[in-house]
This record gives sequence, C-alpha cells and structure tokens, in this order.
Amino acid sequence: MELANRVKTLSPSSTLAITAKANELKKQGHDVIGLGAGEPDFNTPENILDAAEDAMRNGFTKYTPSGGIPELKQAIVDKFQTDNGLSYTPEEIIVTTGAKHALYTLFQVLLNKDDEVIVPAPYWVSYPEQIKLAGGKPVIVSATEQNSFKITPEQIEEAITAKTKAVIINSPNNPTGMVYSKEELRKIGDICLKHNILIVSDEIYEKLIYTDDSHVSIAEISASLKEQTVIINGVSKSHAMTGWRIGYAAGPSELIKPMTNLASHSTSNPTSIAQYAALAAYRSEGDSNLEMRQIFAERLELLYGLLQDIPGISCVKPKGAFYLFPNVEEAMNRNGYRTVDDWVKALLEEEKVALVPGTGFGAHENVRLSYAVSSDALKEASQRIKRFVLNHQ
Ligand code: PLP
Repeated sequence: MELANRVKTLSPSSTLAITAKANELKKQGHDVIGLGAGEPDFNTPENILDAAEDAMRNGFTKYTPSGGIPELKQAIVDKFQTDNGLSYTPEEIIVTTGAKHALYTLFQVLLNKDDEVIVPAPYWVSYPEQIKLAGGKPVIVSATEQNSFKITPEQIEEAITAKTKAVIINSPNNPTGMVYSKEELRKIGDICLKHNILIVSDEIYEKLIYTDDSHVSIAEISASLKEQTVIINGVSKSHAMTGWRIGYAAGPSELIKPMTNLASHSTSNPTSIAQYAALAAYRSEGDSNLEMRQIFAERLELLYGLLQDIPGISCVKPKGAFYLFPNVEEAMNRNGYRTVDDWVKALLEEEKVALVPGTGFGAHENVRLSYAVSSDALKEASQRIKRFVLNHQ
C-alpha cells in the first residue's frame, strides 16, 4: 500500500527501539542490563495511586474538557507561580497526553510547510521527527562538548533565516544533562526577541538537578520573554508517572486555544483518571520527589566515577536529568568499529549491556547511559563495558 509521504522517512524512536531489543534478549534468558530507559525506576507515590483509585470509584471515568479538568489546570497555574514565579491563567494552559503530545500539538498548530525550527543538538529524539510531521524543517545546530553541550546565542543568530519560526531550549537536557544558567538564557532570549522567534522551552526535567544550579525557566526572565515562550512540562519524570501520560503546555492563549481545538479532534482529552492522579501529585504536601532525587544524585556520582576508569571514554559531567552522554570515539576506533551504532550493537550482543547510540540525538561519537537502575546494576554494567573495550584492542 502506498503510504503518506509524511511517514515514509519516519523511524521508530531509537530509545524505545533499544529497550525493545534489550527486553527481547531478556526474554530469551540473557542477563541484560538495560541502561536505555528514559524513565525513573521508582514507583508512582502511594498518595497518587490512591487519588487515581478514588477517581475511578467516584465516577471520574468519563470524557473531560479537551484541555484538561479545571482543577488540574488551576494546580498547574499554582505550580508555575510557586516554582517559577510565573503568572498564567487557565486559558494559557493545556493538559495533554504526556509532554510529547504537547510538543506534537504545538508544532502542528505553529508550522506551515518549510517553516524552520532551530533544534540544538544533542537533542531529544522526537523533536526533529515531530517538526517534520508538521511539515516544518528542523535546523540542527550542534552544541560542542567544549561548551558543555550548550548552544551559544551566536550560533542561534547564525542559524536564523526568514523562515525561522521557533527555537527549542531543553534544560535540563536529555541526553546531556546540561543546565543553562539565567545569564545564558537571557542572551538567547534577547536574540529570539530581536528576531521575533518563539521559544519552545522543554522543562520536563526541571525537578531533577543535582548541583547548586537552580532551574531557570527562560519565561521568568522578563515579561516579553514570557509572551514569546511556550513552556512544556509534565509529571512523567518529576513524579515517576511516565505511563500515566500527563503533560502540559503553558503559553500565549492565541497558541493554547488552537492547540486545545486540535486536541478535541485527536485525543479528545488526556485520560480522566490520570488527570486526577496528576492533580494529587501537584497538591501533595512537601517535596515528594526528594528521595528519588537523592538516589539519582548518588548514582550520577557513582557512574560518572566508574566511567573515568574506562580507557577511550570521556564524559562532560551532567548536572541534571538521569543520563550520562560520554564520548566513546576513541574506544570505538580502538575497538575497530566505524559507527557508534555498530559499537553499541556489539556491546549488547557480547556483554548484554544496552546503551542508546548518540546518533538518534544528533551526536555520532556519544552514547547515552541512563542511571535509572540500581547502583549494583551500574557497577556491573561499567565492568562489562570496560571488559568489552579492553577485549577489542
Ligand atoms: N521532553 C524530553 C526532553 C523528554 O526526554 C521526554 C521523555 O523522554 C519528553 C519530553 C516526553 O515526556 P512525556 O512522558 O511527558 O511525554
């Protein structure tokens, strides 16, 4: 059957593909260590589970407003005020089926054919595909390891053309774990204001920073930047709720309204029960993700230290999210592999350690390791990687 042109070049998400391959090997009885996962290995907190159960029992199992139930929208408005000092109205919020669908819907609403979106690399795998699906053109601008994987305002300015509609900022970043400072964001923001470019600020890892750096939303820097920004966030990573599929976007109502109209014809609404669960997440007393954050911080130190001991692998130390993104070019060359994909494949087949090749993130010399697994698994995995590197000299 002749398929639509828009899906002909669409490849499956490389992060999901490696997880599937690792699971397949596990099923065959192999002792696989999967460092490919993009989700916390913690359970959703009990009070959130209780709220979901109550919602079901109380009959909240029906369609909801397309943009989300008013209580959850209000809780998100309050979250922005408390955490980011940002004042939004409920009309400036849409609750979506995960942050992924907030981004998808935004690009559908924003982009005409050949409109350009600047995507700093390394990038989260879905940005370029979603932009292309909306008819737009991702303009990849590579951040250097020397600059801690952060794009500079000059690089953005150079990439701007008459067709540039938006730029994506993802801090803390997947896959590098890098965090932009307020000053860096201010300079990027100035360029975007000067050229009237929308900023898509993906802040899904906001709550997972392990240094003294604090999360800054580019929208909180000035009123004009707030007007120029759509923030993307959600509960997947902050509250270990990846499967519940609740995310949201906050921005000018002239964008949020058509996004809500589009949602009304695509998803109808995010799952009713999950919305009540997310409401409980935001209405919980105290810092419910503190324990998870502490454990992630310890694992980051552990894995970063272990990697130092493997020849041919170097790593810029991340500050947030739950990934390391080391450069393996030297190891790969010494081991006789021409591409990072081949190196990762051989490592999985031989040592049963699943990593994600950097290729899908726009980086051809790096791999992504997720530390959303136990410390013991991290120790074992790094031993196996070391053995693989040494065995193939
Ligand atoms: N943005 C980034 C940078 C991510 O890493 C992810 C998930 O991996 C998402 C968005 C999507 O999150 P959600 O589970 O809310 O769709």
